[in-house]
Amino acid sequence: MTLSSNFADVAGVRVSTDHYINGQRMASPTRFTDISPITGNVIAEVSRGGAAEVNAAVAAAKAAFPAWAALGPHGRLPYLEKLAHIIEDRVPDLATVETTDNGSLHEASRLRVMKRGGHNIHWFAEYAVSLKAPEFATPHRQAYNRVSYNPAGVTALITPWNAPFMLSTWKVGPALAAGNTVVLKPPEWAPLTCSLLADFAHEAGIPAGVLNVVQGIGEEAGDALVKHPDVARISFTGSPETARIIGRNAAANLTPVSFELGGKSPLLVFDDADLDLALFNMLDQYDNCGQVCLAGTRILVQESIADEMLKRMIAGAAKLRQGNPMQAETQVGPLIHPEHLQRVQGFVERAQQDGATLVYGGQVNPALGGLYYEPTLFTNVREDAELWQREVFGPVLIFDTFKDEAEAIRKANATDYGLAAIIFSQDEARANRVAAQMNAGLVWVNCFYVRDLAQPFGGNKSSGIGREGGIWSFDFYCDLKNVAHKVGTFK
Ligand code: ADP
Repeated sequence: MTLSSNFADVAGVRVSTDHYINGQRMASPTRFTDISPITGNVIAEVSRGGAAEVNAAVAAAKAAFPAWAALGPHGRLPYLEKLAHIIEDRVPDLATVETTDNGSLHEASRLRVMKRGGHNIHWFAEYAVSLKAPEFATPHRQAYNRVSYNPAGVTALITPWNAPFMLSTWKVGPALAAGNTVVLKPPEWAPLTCSLLADFAHEAGIPAGVLNVVQGIGEEAGDALVKHPDVARISFTGSPETARIIGRNAAANLTPVSFELGGKSPLLVFDDADLDLALFNMLDQYDNCGQVCLAGTRILVQESIADEMLKRMIAGAAKLRQGNPMQAETQVGPLIHPEHLQRVQGFVERAQQDGATLVYGGQVNPALGGLYYEPTLFTNVREDAELWQREVFGPVLIFDTFKDEAEAIRKANATDYGLAAIIFSQDEARANRVAAQMNAGLVWVNCFYVRDLAQPFGGNKSSGIGREGGIWSFDFYCDLKNVAHKVGTFK
């Protein structure tokens, strides 16, 4: 590891391709290749961190912790506000780099997603300031109790490639606001916007060691990070398979974990729904080429309207404009990586062998080639089939039907996941009844993706452990302490 910085020119934006450790750019002797899904071309050779880089970053974060914690929420606020402002100013660059790196839609990134990155930092910094320590009495022992939220120490934040900047700031925001220091391990398929985040933290004057970024492969840098005994918290967003490995490694040190994993969420359309609204949202599940953990990938439609909705869904899918995600008119971009394309293709082939009916798509878009996989739709998928049970993380949806509310609820809950459920009905009592029966951490009624940082976000069963957002983030990133005082014992 040497003190130096290499750069990539990413569509005109200069991005460091090295780590950021203890306020300095550090390069590793070995590098990994980062491609753009838009063209398949190499865009950067990035420092490939391992145990040495992780040890240096954790040591820096540990050394920086006492002073950062001692600042308190008010003392940290100006730094974090500055960071949020820099992010807001650099939204155009962030959007360009993220789209080049992971193929997500540039227009959505520019107008919404990257702005949310700044908001994530700002919101949690202000929340920390407003956080009141709860107090309560224990009258029969003549005591009163005061609870305090104390920063836990070094946090390890591991993020995925589908929305790397937004999801990283969503963890960095509360972790730093609560007074912790951070080692962030960005996803190796889209590592570049997290590198920009390190530049912004530097520019904001955040003290050296408070935010560190170690680039690398999950099984190398990620593995070393989660096994490190000086890590006080691990927050991970990614697949259940990786979460199981991280959980086993975290167990050795009893390090608390927060996991936001995937989903196989149901989207229910009742015959009393606003069908235009429902259709719009059904097609919206192809957003980000289906690489969205929240996506309602099992579309369940009431039998009486199923034929009509299936026809409309196929016609709608055929009209979606797939193409270069840099272009504003594009609605569906490419998949992230050739390996991921193989994974998605594998699901589609096995579903066909398994007797499911392919009613739309099912191949790389013949007009575009590369990683542009067509929006794909299946019917006749059995509930015990792989496609029903496992997350594809691609533009592959299931269309199925239900007779009545009872069957809708049963089918909706018939997976090991429990992240989200989306319900379309204009009957409020029915919507509430069904929502109450969903085994899911998030339920949307006649809408999708409505998200407020004050709300708990996360899933049940294989979809995760814990919740992010509001007080739930602080419950995770803090050590809570209760001090009981005996009344009348002080002079
Ligand atoms: P996906 O399946 O969505 O490609 P993963 O769940 O494998 O994603 O990865 C999400 C993040 O977890 C990435 O930053 C990746 O580098 C990291 N990761 C992968 N394997 C491990 C591991 N064994 N330990 C720690 N982090 C890992």
